[in-house]
Amino acid sequence: MSECIFCSIIARKTPGRIVFEDNLVVAIEDIRPQAPVHLLVMPRAHVDSLNDLKPEDEPLLGRLFIVAARLARERGLDTQGYRTVINNGAWAGQSVAHLHVHVMGGRVFHWPPG
Ligand code: AMP
Ligand code: ZN
Repeated sequence: MSECIFCSIIARKTPGRIVFEDNLVVAIEDIRPQAPVHLLVMPRAHVDSLNDLKPEDEPLLGRLFIVAARLARERGLDTQGYRTVINNGAWAGQSVAHLHVHVMGGRVFHWPPG
């Protein structure tokens, strides 16, 4: 998946601000933040979207959200609240086909998101 920008960042071939990594997941700062805190938590191994997860990926999915919550807590977002978003496919606005959880906080978010 050499053409995948997130794989390229994970492989240190493209510059990116990696804020966390372990054997399963990597988190980076979004290059065009839509909130004071805007992180992307993603699988280390390429997966296009939620559509491509398999039953054996349950631990990965758990890790993505455990790490998302931990990073949010470390940034002091847990008391006021923060938003986690996964866009899947064109109509949802997914622009990078490497599964990622947006972690956004530091401002008020509205619902529905549009
Ligand atoms: P989505 O539209 O849900 O697929 O989200 C993709 C996100 O990736 C957007 O918020 C982009 O700003 C972000 N993004 C795209 N390219 C990069 C990059 N090179 N480094 C960090 N974030 C990126
Ligand atoms: Zn990828």
